[in-house]
Amino acid sequence: MSRRKKLYEGKAKILYEGPEPGTIIQYFKDDATAFNAQKKGIIAGKGALNNRISEHIFTHLGWMGIPTHFLKRLNMREQLVKKVEIIPVEVIVRNVAAGSMSKRLGIEEGTVLSRTIVEFCYKSDPLGDPLISEEHAITLGWASQDELAQMTEMSLRINDFLSGLFVGCGMRLIDFKLEFGRWFDGEEEQLILADEISPDTCRLWDLETNEKLDKDRFRRDLGGVEEAYREVARRLGVLPKDSAPKDASAA
Ligand code: UDP
Repeated sequence: MSRRKKLYEGKAKILYEGPEPGTIIQYFKDDATAFNAQKKGIIAGKGALNNRISEHIFTHLGWMGIPTHFLKRLNMREQLVKKVEIIPVEVIVRNVAAGSMSKRLGIEEGTVLSRTIVEFCYKSDPLGDPLISEEHAITLGWASQDELAQMTEMSLRINDFLSGLFVGCGMRLIDFKLEFGRWFDGEEEQLILADEISPDTCRLWDLETNEKLDKDRFRRDLGGVEEAYREVARRLGVLPKDSAPKDASAA
């Protein structure tokens, strides 16, 4: 374990070289950051919960015919994934106005959008992931027009599937972020879903009370952060049976 090569350490995950060529181990940390890493903290047990939640979602998306990097969960905090070249364009899908959209455009948080909005952001920590247009991504060489079209189409399919999955568990999918990568298999190149889908990357509100069950509890100091992540895992049916509330990290 200790001798394996660390490839990259991000805000919420560490990537290690995988056991086979073309594979990577994705390790989920408990670290949480917000506002472009100006706010930092630890959410006890988050790594183990996000590992399970993301495994559950990626597995279902695979069943739905969405190509993803997910291969298998290895243990409490790690999963084996396909190595990809990450496209430096994040896709944000919005069903309900919240967060930066509400702030930027003065739209009250919670306003249901008459149609789903897909946004692109340039993946750059120093720049704070700025909102960009398709033109920027193409002109600056971050993604091709065809890749952006595929990313948009896949994101909308993912949104339809996830919205239903979460409603079935008593949650509204307000918005979320996706990352895609180029997977090279010999001569073939395929665009596949990468990274993670979890309460770190989605806004999820309780269907009846609108209680926030995601990272906004951390961003906005609402308390009950660990409990919210556990609740999402419980509702999805992936909360490890032996994980006690006070010891989620041992899940
Ligand atoms: N998001 C994310 N990573 C980012 C930016 C956004 O996972 O670097 C997610 C965020 O959790 C939310 C959605 O994308 O579910 C939309 O985020 P928004 O643009 O409103 O930014 P925020 O208000 O989180 O800064």
